[in-house]
Amino acid sequence: MSDPIVHRFDVVIVGAGGAGLMAALQTSANAEVAVLSKLYPTRSHTGSAQGGIGAALGNLEEDHWEWHMFDTVKGGDYLSDQDACEIMCRDAIDTVYELEHNGLPFSRTPEGLIDQRRFGGHTRNFGEAPVRRACYAADRTGHMILQTLYQQSIRTGVNFFSEFHALDLIISDGRAAGVVAREIKTGQLHVFHGKAVIIATGGYGRAFKVTSNSLSGTGDGVALAFRRGIPFEDAEFYQFHPTGIYRMGILITEGARGEGGILINGQGERFMERYAPTLKDLAPRDLVSRCIYSEIRAGRGINGQDYVYLDLTGLGRDVIETKLPDITEFVRVYLGIDPVTAPIPIQPTAHYAMGGIPTDLDGRVVVDEANTPLPGLYAAGECACVSVHGANRLGTNSLVDIIVFGRRAGKHALEFVKTADLPPLPSDVTDRARAEVDHFLSGHAVEPPANVRADLQQTMMDLASVLRTGSGLTECLSRVEQLRERFSRTRPQDQGDCFNTDLLETLEIGYLIDISHALAASALARTESRGAHYREDYPERDDKHWLKHSLAYWRDGRIELRYKPVSITRFEPKARTY
Ligand SMILES: Cc1cc2nc3c(=O)[nH]c(=O)nc-3n(C[C@H](O)[C@H](O)[C@H](O)COP(=O)(O)OP(=O)(O)OC[C@H]3O[C@@H](n4cnc5c(N)ncnc54)[C@H](O)[C@@H]3O)c2cc1C
Repeated sequence: MSDPIVHRFDVVIVGAGGAGLMAALQTSANAEVAVLSKLYPTRSHTGSAQGGIGAALGNLEEDHWEWHMFDTVKGGDYLSDQDACEIMCRDAIDTVYELEHNGLPFSRTPEGLIDQRRFGGHTRNFGEAPVRRACYAADRTGHMILQTLYQQSIRTGVNFFSEFHALDLIISDGRAAGVVAREIKTGQLHVFHGKAVIIATGGYGRAFKVTSNSLSGTGDGVALAFRRGIPFEDAEFYQFHPTGIYRMGILITEGARGEGGILINGQGERFMERYAPTLKDLAPRDLVSRCIYSEIRAGRGINGQDYVYLDLTGLGRDVIETKLPDITEFVRVYLGIDPVTAPIPIQPTAHYAMGGIPTDLDGRVVVDEANTPLPGLYAAGECACVSVHGANRLGTNSLVDIIVFGRRAGKHALEFVKTADLPPLPSDVTDRARAEVDHFLSGHAVEPPANVRADLQQTMMDLASVLRTGSGLTECLSRVEQLRERFSRTRPQDQGDCFNTDLLETLEIGYLIDISHALAASALARTESRGAHYREDYPERDDKHWLKHSLAYWRDGRIELRYKPVSITRFEPKARTY
């Protein structure tokens, strides 16, 4: 293989979704910035976000950022760091206006204000009733955010390296010094040498069989950091969204229930009234997903099967076609059903990672219980854990998170590079990445990598999804360890250099194995139920022992778990009722 091509930048950003682009926009006017993405930027998963971005603008009814903050903390089952939540909910308002001024075409009220709709867990006056807080652009809010930020990034001269796959993080003298990446078109290795690195690689829904996430959601950044000794925070908290299209997992936005859609069981009953008398179908996702599983277990799925209905027929054609056009199209195309006249078969779908790379309030990656930063290294977006979502994220809060903390990470990184020098590159800078690629591009396959991926996704779905038990998680851990072993003996069929997406997907399976390993180990250790982590053998929340964040480290081929405290500023933990 030829020598790597070396590039030098002030800031190297991995990921061109909402978080990466927001960080790029803060830095590009005053620093040399590179954004690498394994996808063409506008194909990032942010573009699939449907329902909305939450901000207490109060355009249709009274609202305050304190109410938004309370809902976020309660929704997160009190594991959210409240100092971070306060920043997010305050800054949400300015950032939404900033997006508007950058050209984002929001849906409007007749008076011309940004329109807002209801979403799960968002309430007025500390839990009284649902409030209209989600700003939206029909059901393509993420698409509009991504297009807006990409256009602005082009305008401000961000240097894009599209279809470059980051394979390793460079740490030199205890500082971040860049990344090693493979150019997908040619197989050429590149070194992006920088004073600061921002990881913004998104989520990892692909660890599960049924997921709303795009194919690229494989947790690369979290795994690359983890392999370099950086902990993976709150790995056990993975959210299932209640309404995925049955068997396919494709998301039907919560905005559909925000507009008035309801969930119906096999007896035609609106069952959420029983479980959450105040918020009903707009209770938070962890709760609604568990209720759907309970109904199915009790034999009240549709025709006794493992799904229920999302019924939009009461909304009328106008609302459905103007406010929810994309999901209407999905249902018509994928199910051959018209949501105007027929209910939609749905089941919970793996959706969002609350855990990730630990950061402080400025997006700096922190590596221990004392929150010690690793100089020059930042993370933002779904791959990061700041932690605003705690044990369960509220709908519309991820788009806020990526924008608010993408911006803060970018601003801090810009200040950092103004005075920092370029750290020296280690002499063996590409050795690790090269060894990994060489391993998969030589020798013989015992089996195809895709078999391992299918078994991993099935294992995680069966043993580590909405309902968990100690014995199931023990079994899950041992299967993941066996899958790791099997994976090392797989090889992609394509052994070439040019557009070898087979190799790319193989490497992604390796990331998913790391993620699943940490997730299962953290979930097994946590003997309580909190937010999206529900243990049937420990059904109660246990604040005395478990009001703390977990940190999973990769040490000598094993997972080591440590814990750090939760920041509690305004709201003392209480029992959650909706
Ligand atoms: C279907 C769907 C609907 C959603 N709807 C909403 C909603 O209405 N409201 C809300 O708040 N949230 C929503 N979410 C969640 C939200 O969209 C995501 O959490 C958020 O967009 C993630 O943004 P990000 O910038 O962190 O990552 P992404 O947008 O996923 O971008 C990740 C980037 O990293 C790059 N990358 C990854 N690995 C590598 C690598 N190894 N090398 C180089 N580049 C790499 C990718 O190419 C991509 O550019 C939704 C999610 C889904 C899946």
